[in-house]
Amino acid sequence: MISLPGNFKIQMQNLLGEDWNDFAEALQQAPPVSIRYNRHKNAAPQDAEEVAWCAMGRYLTTRPVFTLDPLLHAGAYYVQEASSMFLEQAAVLWRGQTGLRFLDLCAAPGGKSTHLADLMPAGSMLVSNEVIRTRTAALSENLTKWGNPNTVITHNDPEDFASLPGFFDVMLIDAPCSGEGLFRKDPAAMEEWSEAHVKFCAERQRRIVSGAWDALKEEGLLLYSTCTCNREENENNIRWITQHLGAEVVHIPLQPAWNVTTNEYGHRFFPHKTKGEGFFISLLRKNKTGKLLFPMSSPPPPLLKERGAERRASCASLLPLAQRERGLGGED
Ligand code: SAM
Repeated sequence: MISLPGNFKIQMQNLLGEDWNDFAEALQQAPPVSIRYNRHKNAAPQDAEEVAWCAMGRYLTTRPVFTLDPLLHAGAYYVQEASSMFLEQAAVLWRGQTGLRFLDLCAAPGGKSTHLADLMPAGSMLVSNEVIRTRTAALSENLTKWGNPNTVITHNDPEDFASLPGFFDVMLIDAPCSGEGLFRKDPAAMEEWSEAHVKFCAERQRRIVSGAWDALKEEGLLLYSTCTCNREENENNIRWITQHLGAEVVHIPLQPAWNVTTNEYGHRFFPHKTKGEGFFISLLRKNKTGKLLFPMSSPPPPLLKERGAERRASCASLLPLAQRERGLGGED
């Protein structure tokens, strides 16, 4: 039985109204187990329930010891929470195009990067970035096992990418967050929770987005997601991006049976309505001017002060190589 922080309960009661009881009850259930198969490894999906919004996503009825399964180590599938697989539905926006540049800015351990690697159109490349050095090993291992050669791994601050203005067609920011959507899976997230932490996360998310914003081309797409429920880190930040950085929200096509909760800022997954964890995702298109519309009164503090020009240079020098490799092993 999990015991929720008092102020979190109040926040969720305000957000959900009469749905609160169903939500609280869902948090007492065991989380569903789901995996996403690699499109290119011929590991035919087993006879298992499909994740409705992800062609290669399947629910398992039990949780095996994944690390004992050779197929996991061969990159035949990735163990991933089902709501996060909704990312796939954004691919409709780039269907029919070729040779796009993708940036996954907060990528470790690689769940969404491996997914993007499967969803990229032919001749595209993915830059998969992780700022925390100790997390890059898992990212590297997972992407290597997944096996798409058009993938580059970088270890940079978000603001380093600003030195590549207008370079990327699609940017994914799966932002570090307060993790409210994972409380039943990850009790540590619950122990760390406080209103102050939510505020801290929301501010950090705005710094991350604005730090890398220049690297997104005009009319390029930003996918912003979190695994948390509060408005500060989700809707309020989307509104902030549209007003301060200059973007419009693009609604991802949905089917009613999925039970996804949509508002003018994005799409929410609640565990009492969809079979998965709490998740928020919004798709934005950068305005043509791409200018800071309402610059902040004071500039955001630097993300990680200790890293500087040296890493900026290493990031920039990787990209021409990646470009030369575009076209090899392209996806469709
Ligand atoms: N996208 C990943 C996946 O699907 O496997 C999960 C990403 S996790 C939600 C957020 C990531 O942001 C973490 O890997 C974390 O190390 C990274 N991060 C933390 N602080 C950051 C910062 N200030 N700037 C950029 N990334 C940060």
